[in-house]
Amino acid sequence: MFQELHDLLGPQGCLTGADVPEAARSDGSRSGQMLPLALLRPATVEQVSAALAICHRHGQKVVVQGGMTGLAGGANALGGEVALSLSRLSGVEEIDAVQGVMVLRAGTVLEVAQRAAEAAGFLLPIDLGARGSCQIGGNIATNAGGLRVIRHGTTRENVLGLEVVQADGTVLSHLNRGVKDNTGYDLRHLFAGSEGTLGVITRAVLRLRPLPAAPETALCALEDFGAVVRLLQMAQRSVTVAAFEAMWREYFALSQSLTGKVLFADVPPFAVILEAEGGGLQPLLEAAFEEGVIFDALVAQSTAEARDFWAVREGHALDASLRGLINLDVSLPVARMADYADDVTAAVLAQFPGAHVSFFGHVGDSNLHVAIAVPDPDPQKEQAVDRIAYDAVRARGGSISAEHGKRTLKRDWLGHSRSPAELAAMRAIKAALDPKGILNPGKVI
Ligand SMILES: Cc1cc2nc3c(=O)[nH]c(=O)nc-3n(C[C@H](O)[C@H](O)[C@H](O)COP(=O)(O)OP(=O)(O)OC[C@H]3O[C@@H](n4cnc5c(N)ncnc54)[C@H](O)[C@@H]3O)c2cc1C
Repeated sequence: MFQELHDLLGPQGCLTGADVPEAARSDGSRSGQMLPLALLRPATVEQVSAALAICHRHGQKVVVQGGMTGLAGGANALGGEVALSLSRLSGVEEIDAVQGVMVLRAGTVLEVAQRAAEAAGFLLPIDLGARGSCQIGGNIATNAGGLRVIRHGTTRENVLGLEVVQADGTVLSHLNRGVKDNTGYDLRHLFAGSEGTLGVITRAVLRLRPLPAAPETALCALEDFGAVVRLLQMAQRSVTVAAFEAMWREYFALSQSLTGKVLFADVPPFAVILEAEGGGLQPLLEAAFEEGVIFDALVAQSTAEARDFWAVREGHALDASLRGLINLDVSLPVARMADYADDVTAAVLAQFPGAHVSFFGHVGDSNLHVAIAVPDPDPQKEQAVDRIAYDAVRARGGSISAEHGKRTLKRDWLGHSRSPAELAAMRAIKAALDPKGILNPGKVI
């Protein structure tokens, strides 16, 4: 089989044994234990199709790899898989300015696609902290959320057409450019969020928006979570909200100190980054002061200052500073977020004194990120932390995965958010599209 793959893809496209790079071991979760048996790097859709047909014939398991920035272990081999990387299948093929769409290959890095859209006078409304490395195919496969969901929806809402290669090598191509298309089942939505378990995304048509004038950005200080909700409601009534990101005190304090930039010397109980498109931020902040909703605010005077606010929110340095950091990503009714955070903090600290527990995220999208690091981490402690956090989600009718997917460990908790009937329907879909079960086995369900 490896000889067949080598003959098909050539030495650059099929790395085996000691040539498989260490980077193929793990995504951004840093939880990967195994190197894949081979790293396949097809450069065309035809090569993806032929490589999958070979694997399918041999019953060879395949794990799909995009930019490897996922935080859920979805792109990691679990043992015995070959990895299929989309990195060489990259590039923007076309920007249709009349239709307002972009056609691109799945391995295109998000930031490259964003720049191409901007150069043509458009906004690509998908944006997340990993923009410099994550790929469009990975964004679609995880239905990535990110920083603009409150304004433009999740990735799936910006996908108009898709080309996908099925497990047996069949190419499904529906590169539709229109917003309206009611011809049969909408397969787009099946593949968006399928995390490489139903097919390999090779090409996409994405919706673009007019490039807005630079948004106004403020960093606000608030006393309690009730004020965060009131500020969100005021903002939604009076401005076009482009982003609304909240940080609990513990997160803001640590991330601010790690970035080395002092934004609020006295760390507030809650900090919110509020971005507004089309003006109106100043009057909103004045009203929020008068009504006692915020007690301090910084308004960015330049793009660089806005970037400083975002650097604290994105918190890239946390991963390196907290050993064994557990990143969870849950969805909750907004009204239950404060008591969720309080209860999870109390339960984790009771079991693991000295742990770091902090919360931040896309409150306007009902989405909370949870950052927990326990002293001397090990897999048992991680399971105990998952149980505390996910039991508290179930008790509040939330979802255990808002955007970061359902890695192998999360798979075991899926029953906290989905009914047995829903899980059975998912298994039936998987069996229909990948009857031999070769694509990303052990993931999602
Ligand atoms: C700093 C940072 C910030 C982040 N912020 C966010 C955020 O705000 N919101 C959010 O949702 N995520 C966020 N993430 C997580 C991650 O960046 C996203 O999930 C991203 O969409 C993954 O893209 P990727 O190309 O790196 O995919 P990978 O990590 O390579 O793969 C992710 C999953 O998709 C599958 N896959 C990849 N490419 C394809 C393809 N072409 N066809 C089929 N399946 C494929 C893989 O098998 C795997 O299951 C963040 C990560 C980091 C490191």
